Amino acid sequence: MTNDDKNTQFRSLPSVEQLLQEPGLGGLAGAYSHAAVVSLARQQLDATRRSIRNGGDAPGMEQLAADIMARAEEEWAPWPRPLVNATGVVIHTNLGRAPLSEPAMEAVQAGASGYSDLEFDVKTGTRGSRQAHIGRLIAEVTGAETGLVVNNNASAIMLGLSAVAGPGGPREVIVSRGEGVEIGGGFRVPDVLRQSGATLVEVGTTNRTYVRDYASAINDNTAAILKVHPSNFRVTGFTHEAELGELMTLGRERGVPVLNDLGSGCLLDTTHYGLAPEPTVQDSVDAGVELSFFSGDKLIGGPQAGIVAGSAEWVERLARHPLARAVRIDKMGLAALSATLASFLKERAHEEVPVWCMISMSQEAIAATAESWLKEIESPAVRLREGQSTVGGGSLPGETLPTTLLTVTPPDSPDAFAGRLRSGPTPVIARIEDEDVVLDPRTVLEDQSSIVVEAVKSALKG
Ligand SMILES: *Cc1c(COP(=O)(O)O)cnc(C)c1O
Repeated sequence: MTNDDKNTQFRSLPSVEQLLQEPGLGGLAGAYSHAAVVSLARQQLDATRRSIRNGGDAPGMEQLAADIMARAEEEWAPWPRPLVNATGVVIHTNLGRAPLSEPAMEAVQAGASGYSDLEFDVKTGTRGSRQAHIGRLIAEVTGAETGLVVNNNASAIMLGLSAVAGPGGPREVIVSRGEGVEIGGGFRVPDVLRQSGATLVEVGTTNRTYVRDYASAINDNTAAILKVHPSNFRVTGFTHEAELGELMTLGRERGVPVLNDLGSGCLLDTTHYGLAPEPTVQDSVDAGVELSFFSGDKLIGGPQAGIVAGSAEWVERLARHPLARAVRIDKMGLAALSATLASFLKERAHEEVPVWCMISMSQEAIAATAESWLKEIESPAVRLREGQSTVGGGSLPGETLPTTLLTVTPPDSPDAFAGRLRSGPTPVIARIEDEDVVLDPRTVLEDQSSIVVEAVKSALKG
């Protein structure tokens, strides 16, 4: 295209004001502010000019309006958008981690759509604490003296280390070399320690650390021993780690508190569900750990939150620290978390908390769903086969649950097919395995089956 041609194309573009008269944009002008629509129209015109500069053609008025509508839909529609997790990864970090239970959603609705007694004591008519109620619930489900909740587990650990090993007291925190890990999302144990003002003292080796390694590192400047769940990282073979019990004995003898970052924070015995044993919060509390830290939205199956369970003396130190206010949890998180913990108190987690419903789903129920999909899709490109679901969320690395997968051999490439599954009004996220696209019923919510069936049928059409 010559520069003259390009200039002609540029001149054919409407002005923002002309564009706003286009009937195709009528809906937008009624729904959003004039300034917002003008800004969006400008962005679209700028993008169009860039495209012309690169050799593209100028779109007509109607096309421009349609592009602006599409841009508005993409950027201004309610978000996050619901989708179907057919990956079989129960706690999927990229897909919003734990889906909330019905009781949790009801509690959020009830506690957040109006005023509440979040920080008010109704009996006395005086100021209350947002931590008191949840602290008692945490104590009840974990066996600890009390508990505290903050924004997420990363901030709970940051707060814990700042309060225990920050300025003004002993600073050294002893960590096994095998546990100085990066957990994902850039959360590196050594960096978090440094940020909180603590001094990291690494002991042992990557694969073997003994309690005597910790013992010989203790001195007058030791603030704490920190144990960290290595999450989705596992050293196998010639390994040794100090048991929590041994560390507790050492800590008591030398007057050093033990902090335990459990990561996913399991409250139930995973061996009952055909999984390897995951350390439970109760075990950590029973061992006498001063402060146990865990997430609200991993194996607890609740909202994003960082939960601390521990002795009243140490939890109180965290609550009083200035950082506590900076990392405090909001009322919706508190409402959802208290309802989720109540499901554990009622021993109804496997019926009420989606993460546990999915983990405990019977193989028969999964197979029945997969078969119903197969029947409704009715295509030679689709079959069933045995496969594996995973728990995810950094818990239970390498552990899988047997499942039945709907397997699609796509007419074109697996990537293209998976892309078409994501392109519907409710995107369906599948997994690619050996050139096949596989969908796992375990993580598909009950009312989403028809979405899966429709998405596969439509993606098979190309
Ligand atoms: C996930 C995880 C964290 C971070 O928890 P968030 O709630 O995501 O902030 C910290 N430590 C361990 C061991 C974890 O697995």
